[in-house]
Amino acid sequence: MTTTLFTNAHIATGNPGSTAADTAPLQDILVEDGVFTAIGPNLTAKLAAQGKDLNGAEVVNLGGKLVCPPFCDTHLHLDYVFTARKPGAVNETGTLFEGIQRWSETKSDLTVEEVKERAKIGIKKEMLHGVQFIRSHADVTDPNLTSLKALLELKEELKDTVTIQIVSFPQEGMYSYEGPHGESGADLVEEGLKMGADCVGGIPHFEQCREFGERSMHTVVELASKYGRLIDVHCDETDDPNSRYVELLSALAYKTGIGPKVTASHTCSLGSADNAYFFHLTKLLKAAHINFACAPTENLYLQGRQDTFPKRRGITRVKELTEAGVNVSLGQDSMQDPWYPVGNGNMMLILDYVLHLAQMMSFEEIDDALKFLTVNGATTLGLRDSYGLEAGKPANFIVLDASSVFDAVYERCSVLRSVRGGRTLFTRHESVDTPLDLLR
Ligand SMILES: [Zn+2]
Repeated sequence: MTTTLFTNAHIATGNPGSTAADTAPLQDILVEDGVFTAIGPNLTAKLAAQGKDLNGAEVVNLGGKLVCPPFCDTHLHLDYVFTARKPGAVNETGTLFEGIQRWSETKSDLTVEEVKERAKIGIKKEMLHGVQFIRSHADVTDPNLTSLKALLELKEELKDTVTIQIVSFPQEGMYSYEGPHGESGADLVEEGLKMGADCVGGIPHFEQCREFGERSMHTVVELASKYGRLIDVHCDETDDPNSRYVELLSALAYKTGIGPKVTASHTCSLGSADNAYFFHLTKLLKAAHINFACAPTENLYLQGRQDTFPKRRGITRVKELTEAGVNVSLGQDSMQDPWYPVGNGNMMLILDYVLHLAQMMSFEEIDDALKFLTVNGATTLGLRDSYGLEAGKPANFIVLDASSVFDAVYERCSVLRSVRGGRTLFTRHESVDTPLDLLR
């Protein structure tokens, strides 16, 4: 048996109300054969009193740093990463729709190996920022399904170090796209599900007309039921307050009882909708129990492009949804692709943006903020049963360079260690050299 005792940790469970202040007692974490078996203060003495000898255990002193479950990035496009500078890919207007156009015009030369190499760099960046769970979309509006093949291979090859869920995503529309042999985007989404994609995707606000968008929402729910998959729709990623596909998606989810398996990504239009509409919609969202994924940096950058001033922020109502009890998680979305020229997988930065944009800075909100990257993400991904710092669950956790959630948010801190199944994936040591006492 492999036994490791991680000592002297401040614990942030990721559950609401968990703040892990400096004054909280330090705790120990016992991991045996890759599973948490005990968490609490003074474990060595406590377990010795129960007749359990930890003398043979490897001991890792965490030095009072903050431990939390690994970060989840619930919205990323691994097939797009690092394509922003390809000839013809540069997005001059900075709009979502030019991004789609540029990708469409430049994606024909993809190969499985090339996509995998780029995606691996993106995954590495995310992991070094504490991410162990990623939901990536794979563009299937390509008759060769190159992106999907590449990401399915990576998912399997990397499963011991990172969990990847893949969305069969019709970037150019379910009913607006037609392939060279007459195949629709919907046909290709279904083919992606047959090949093993975890989630059904859609993009109703991009379809050529409202009827196609509505039809695509029905198709998404039908395919999810037929193949027993999750749903993640790029939904209402526009400033147009009349884009209301989240309403139809939620109603269909409610009718079929699959709400917890459904995610509405982006929903920027809710940032433009009036309060009377949102008030009415909230009742349905709560009843349906669907999840939301917000990509604050991309939506801030891409939306509001038809505005002069005042200029909209472009993101969904994170604060209001959260206060209504609706689950919201966060995503990086893009890394140097035609939609967003930066993006480096730093989820603490993504959190920082959302707290500012959504104006969520009461001390209670800050103390509770890591939930957006942890338990809320695991809820979106449908992985709560195997996620979290609890005895009996896989020993997956990260160590942050802070002693409380507030300090972690305040410092936009680094991740010092990532542990997966009891195995340390990496450690980071940061030091400052200076002759000045002031700077020590
Ligand atoms: Zn996206």
